[in-house]
Amino acid sequence: MPVHGRFTACQLVEIQNEHFLVDCGEGAQMQLHRFQHSIHRINHILISHLHGDHFLGLLGLLFSMHMNKRTNDLHLYSHRGLEEILTVQLKHSRSVPQFRIVFHPLQAEHPEVIFENKHVTIETIPLLHKIECTGFLFKEKEKPYRINKETLPEGLLIQQLAALKRGEDVVDDAGNILYTHQSLTLPPRHARSYAYCSDTHYHEPLIEQLRGIDVLYHEATFMEEEKSKAWETKHSTATQAATIAKKSSVGKLLIGHFSARYRELDPLLQEARVVFPNTFLAEEGKTFQIDE
Ligand SMILES: [Zn+2]
Ligand SMILES: [Zn+2]
Repeated sequence: MPVHGRFTACQLVEIQNEHFLVDCGEGAQMQLHRFQHSIHRINHILISHLHGDHFLGLLGLLFSMHMNKRTNDLHLYSHRGLEEILTVQLKHSRSVPQFRIVFHPLQAEHPEVIFENKHVTIETIPLLHKIECTGFLFKEKEKPYRINKETLPEGLLIQQLAALKRGEDVVDDAGNILYTHQSLTLPPRHARSYAYCSDTHYHEPLIEQLRGIDVLYHEATFMEEEKSKAWETKHSTATQAATIAKKSSVGKLLIGHFSARYRELDPLLQEARVVFPNTFLAEEGKTFQIDE
């Protein structure tokens, strides 16, 4: 719930100039405005599931896009029902947006790629919750080798540079090697990965899909002493989130979605850090950069 200065679920993921909004809880657009993120740059909104704390900010955001005379298509990824909810609301307000809303239905049974461009793929992560719920795994594609300007001879053709970037040697027409790619290139930059696991109970099948990713966001609604409550409501404890992070060997863990019963978050953080030291709180307005 929006209490203790905290807001409901919403994250902005920026990769190679593309902005993805991940969940859109109540007040999302006010928070975006407060932290100076333009809503015009958002072309894709991913909704993990249809509990109110994950999508009730959507209509307000869409209405502002409409008022701002947006014309670009907006892609909405969600489980079934969202289209119906929004259509009714727009119908009765007699608002006809000048932009197209493209609905992409999700299924929660198995992982599937729902978005792909030159730089990144987004794959769904089936979660274990009270209703159909999926997380999202953002993976950058393998990057090209970098040309080493220090060793690069003059006069190479564009095709030869392209071959180097693919990790191939420069050859002459007869196929003889003129330059090896090792001598003219540096290794590719690291292809980054980020997983968003919104509402879920402790779910070991996640481990395989999350193995070795750079950053994992995993909900930690409760502390371990409320473990039975976590099971009942299909949420996780801080210890459980950290256990998934540890078993998946991720680089960093962010925890969030804290129950309204906790005014102070430090105990949740400390509990998670016992299991997985590289844990941080996903708090309002915080930015986490993943290095290449
Ligand atoms: Zn939920
Ligand atoms: Zn929730």
